[in-house]
Amino acid sequence: MPVSVAIDGPAGAGKSTVAKKAAAVLGFTYVDTGAVYRSVTFFCDRAGVNKDDDAAVSKALEGLSADISFKDGAQHVSVNGEDVTDMIRTPKISSLTSFYAAKPCVRAFLLELQREMARSRDVIMDGRDIGTVVLPDADVKIFLTASPEVRAKRRYDELRAKGENVSFDDILSSVNQRDRQDSERSAAPLKQAEDAIYLDTGDMDIDAAVQRVVDIVRNEVCK
Ligand code: C5P
Repeated sequence: MPVSVAIDGPAGAGKSTVAKKAAAVLGFTYVDTGAVYRSVTFFCDRAGVNKDDDAAVSKALEGLSADISFKDGAQHVSVNGEDVTDMIRTPKISSLTSFYAAKPCVRAFLLELQREMARSRDVIMDGRDIGTVVLPDADVKIFLTASPEVRAKRRYDELRAKGENVSFDDILSSVNQRDRQDSERSAAPLKQAEDAIYLDTGDMDIDAAVQRVVDIVRNEVCK
């Protein structure tokens, strides 16, 4: 049986970086589920769908086929055959995605695609509801988090290093807004699974967090 590791947590906790590196160490496939929510959002936004009209969103999904594939170990997402991997990382898509992700029709549409990814390979899958909804029987569940201030500071440093003129307060308020949107929605809200291991990365650098995840997986899987 393939091994599945679910890593959930809020935006900016370092999930994707940590999960990707831990997967490389363990020889597992890293699956970024946020990317598929982003690609559905991108598709609907570009098609001019009225995002407040759930029936219109449902209808648009009927004409959509989303797919995850891997090239040289890197995940690619496509909608109707078009690779949108590089177009889904804008701030606009980030905030619109948590709006679309709150819709039950969007979550239902993406559920099977995510489950399918874990059927035939060892995976580390990251998201918001992997341990609670997508893979409730995952072999290992980790809730990876850090305080909003720590997450905003990391994002601030990252953007400043790229030469972007951003304000810490603006970033902190968008982190808090996304947390609210993801935790307060009624469909599959962000929450720690009862059997998940809580990992606060506030005082850890990336390498320490990766090592911790690798140790947890080895420990749990080899029991
Ligand atoms: O992880 P990432 O920041 O790319 O996710 C973008 C958005 O997609 C999140 O803010 C959340 O609203 C949504 N998402 C979700 N469930 C998942 C993965 C992502 O609702 N499993």
